[in-house]
Amino acid sequence: MGMTPEQTEHFRRRCDMMSEYVHPECGKRTQVPPKFVEAMVLDPYAFNNMTMCSHCGEVLTSKVFMRNKKSAKHMVSLLRKEAPISFKFVRFIGVRIAFAVIAAIIGVIVQVVSMDFLPLAGVAGIMAAIGVLLGGAFDSSIAMALRRRGMLW
Ligand SMILES: [Zn+2]
Repeated sequence: MGMTPEQTEHFRRRCDMMSEYVHPECGKRTQVPPKFVEAMVLDPYAFNNMTMCSHCGEVLTSKVFMRNKKSAKHMVSLLRKEAPISFKFVRFIGVRIAFAVIAAIIGVIVQVVSMDFLPLAGVAGIMAAIGVLLGGAFDSSIAMALRRRGMLW
């Protein structure tokens, strides 16, 4: 499963838009590495408001401007606005819920198999909490991987 031709076209256009910016304070252009551009388009929440200028180092995204004269900060908010609710759900809630459920089930199975004396609900709760934390470490990469496969557009 992959992106539809329309999704591919949209993705390419967005990547192209985010691939280069100029920093007026020093006048230098910065080429953004393709992997970084793709990550930005696939998960615009994975980045904060700092970016790199090839001349000055770290600068605010509001201080660099893309080919269309809009700031990188503006373009990232556009990408965030464009992201469908399905993506936001998976990115911020879905992955964590899935990890919590899987961890809770594993906890209960281990508990039942080992015939331990700990209360099942307690074990399930602790494992679910661990799952939420673990899910939080993977939510961005999983959401990105799903989008790359044409889901969550
Ligand atoms: Zn600069």
